[in-house]
Amino acid sequence: MGLTKNSHKSTLLQDATGLKSNHRDITVALAGNPNVGKSTVFNALTGMHQHTGNWSGKTVSTAKGSYIYLGRKIILIDIPGTYSLNANSAEEEVARDFILDGKANVTVVVCDAATLQRNIALLLQINQTNNKTILCINFIDEAKKRGITVNTEKMSKMLGLPVVAVSGKKKLGLNTLSDEIIKMHALILPEQKTTKTVDFSATQINARAKVICDACVTKGENKGFLKDRKLDKILTGKLTAAPTMLLLLAVTFWLTISAANYPSDILANILFSFEKVLYNFLEKIGFHANLCNLLTYGVYRVVAWIVSVMLPPMAIFFPLFSILEDSGYLPRIAFNLDKCFKKCRACGKQSLTMCMGFGCNAAGIIGCRIIDSKRERLIAILTNSLVPCNGRFPLLLGIISMFFVVGEGLDTLKAALILTCFILLSILMTFICSFLLSKTVLKGMPTSFILELPPYRKPQIFKTIIHSVFDRTLFVLGRAVIAAIPAGLIIWLSANIFINGQTLLSICASFLDPFGKILGLDGVILIAFILGLPANEIVLPLIFLAYSGGSLLTDIGDLTIIKNLFLENGWSIITALNVMLFSLFHWPCATSLLTIKKETGSFKWTFVAFLMPTVIGIILCFVTNLIYNLII
Ligand code: GDP
Repeated sequence: MGLTKNSHKSTLLQDATGLKSNHRDITVALAGNPNVGKSTVFNALTGMHQHTGNWSGKTVSTAKGSYIYLGRKIILIDIPGTYSLNANSAEEEVARDFILDGKANVTVVVCDAATLQRNIALLLQINQTNNKTILCINFIDEAKKRGITVNTEKMSKMLGLPVVAVSGKKKLGLNTLSDEIIKMHALILPEQKTTKTVDFSATQINARAKVICDACVTKGENKGFLKDRKLDKILTGKLTAAPTMLLLLAVTFWLTISAANYPSDILANILFSFEKVLYNFLEKIGFHANLCNLLTYGVYRVVAWIVSVMLPPMAIFFPLFSILEDSGYLPRIAFNLDKCFKKCRACGKQSLTMCMGFGCNAAGIIGCRIIDSKRERLIAILTNSLVPCNGRFPLLLGIISMFFVVGEGLDTLKAALILTCFILLSILMTFICSFLLSKTVLKGMPTSFILELPPYRKPQIFKTIIHSVFDRTLFVLGRAVIAAIPAGLIIWLSANIFINGQTLLSICASFLDPFGKILGLDGVILIAFILGLPANEIVLPLIFLAYSGGSLLTDIGDLTIIKNLFLENGWSIITALNVMLFSLFHWPCATSLLTIKKETGSFKWTFVAFLMPTVIGIILCFVTNLIYNLII
């Protein structure tokens, strides 16, 4: 826990002041329905960077942060969104347990000004169990635009608790919220509620929420709502949903590929030109020649590769993906794919966890907690790594840029379409495997669920770019570099240790070569995939290093030269295609496997999750290679 930035410096001081937790600290739970802006309010108050996004279900565990206000340390706990205290799913259980355990001194129930009636139902339920509750009406900026006004004073009187209007995004009303938290904490109440059970008559509570909202909320003409419905007609319409989804995907990839090539070349030129400088420097300060080689051509080269080939596409792709997420398009994808998942006898919510998997499979697997049924959750967990994560996109983009983009314009469009096909294949495979699992080892009927489609929101472009660069791009890059350094050392050493006149690398590679060749790959590629278990990001750099590790390449600062290196090592179009296929379908990375073990608590299911994509990858590569060889 720690603070990085604070928005309202005049009153909020940094946690770095060193205030230790003591009896004067106030622990505050941030509760509320999903997607009401809890994480945004949490971030605005603490200066932290909890993941936010315009869709329900992204927060499945609690997050903790703190800030200092008027000399008091306020500890905020951001708990998963829940519709009621009668928990249905694992993440709702986390929220319910936290509230009922009475761990917080004050509970702030965050609500969306536009959906107050439904949100207040949860507030009324929470207020039954806890009499130190504050209502925080968020999205007050959006409400204004939509012609919604809330009489907070009247609402406060009717509810018998403080009501504060804020905008987490615009950082409005946050000081008033902190004031109310301190006042509420200091309040000596005649009796402290200790109820741990909820008496919940839904009808009664909903009726009360309606009475309060009818009395305190006025709604003008909502132009935004009509605009949203018009957009929904296109983005979720029967005939238009699939083409627009494909178009958006293809445009995202096209922008990424066409914009990444040039900076990639420049970076490669700069970074690889430093190899000689680094080597000379290390030699000059007295390092042994072998160590100079190891550090320059083992460690530095793999890092230079990662930065030049992976950074530009990631720096473009991740913000574009975040913008789609922030705009509210992600739940529309889930809505569009719901029927397909139902046909596979899986849960429609799996489309959301699948989308999370595009970011990070481990996060997608944890996200499966939003699925209530055990059977459907297991299907979603087992199939999650069939879609490529952040770590695998760079490989796909890198190979496509090298092997399928010769010129500009039409060529980059072709490359974007190829990548779109690969993504569609991974989604298709998710359907097929979900279907097969639900027909065999995980038999059962699909359950239904309510999916909330949030309003479309203008994404915070600048913030999104900054966050996705720091949270995703640099995270993936850092992870790649950390995992690549030891793996790079292993590859370089094995390329330079000779046994009976043969390098260790070539001995291992020739052992795996026959199997690799059947799949249209080779031994080196298989070694790179095996060493890439800690992080998929390093597979391509390792292949590059293995091919170049033993030799001192000159003039490497150009992607075509790297491509030529691959061609010299026997690559053809089918090798490029099959490396991409195998990257889509092979064992999940170590983090994902550990997460699967943790979430399922079973070695058996972890093994199934390991085996299933690997077998698919082997079969697909074998078949494509066979067809290619028959045709050529
Ligand atoms: P949570 O699921 O409750 O944690 O919701 P998030 O904090 O992730 O917010 C959901 C979406 O609403 C995100 O796209 C936020 O940028 C947006 N958002 C949150 N608070 C506000 C606000 O006060 N005004 C506006 N306009 N958008 C907001």
